[in-house]
Amino acid sequence: MTIFSKIIAGEIPSYKVAEDDKFYAFLDINPVNWGHTLVVPKEETDYIFDIDDATLGEMMVFAKKVAVALKKAVPCRKVGVTVLGLEVPHAHIHLVPLQKEGDMDFSSKISNPDAEKMQWIAKNIAEEFNA
Ligand code: AMP
Repeated sequence: MTIFSKIIAGEIPSYKVAEDDKFYAFLDINPVNWGHTLVVPKEETDYIFDIDDATLGEMMVFAKKVAVALKKAVPCRKVGVTVLGLEVPHAHIHLVPLQKEGDMDFSSKISNPDAEKMQWIAKNIAEEFNA
């Protein structure tokens, strides 16, 4: 079971922002920028391009809905999209609010982000998602 499956199962806490029957979205615990969100399929697959076409399409549509909510909750020029997957073997899409290119710098993360601020951001994104 991956760490993300444990999060989806509620065994490990997360700053949840959205969920449906197939996908789950939550804040990255070491964000590259405030509002950095991960979108994961509930079914475990390591490499994103091993996911079947239909599910991958649904995952991107779910990520789009999250990105729309994220952009309202965390004002930005655009929401950037990245897939890395080098650390956690459970496919996920990174969504990052961008004002400038440097806001998507994965070599410079916010370590120990303030828990209250993370909770507040997650709540605001969730409210926009469910509006
Ligand atoms: P990568 O697999 O290279 O895309 O990186 C995995 C991402 O997951 C990193 O940005 C981590 O900060 C993030 N991450 C790892 N564990 C957790 C967790 N328990 N909660 C939220 N984000 C996590």
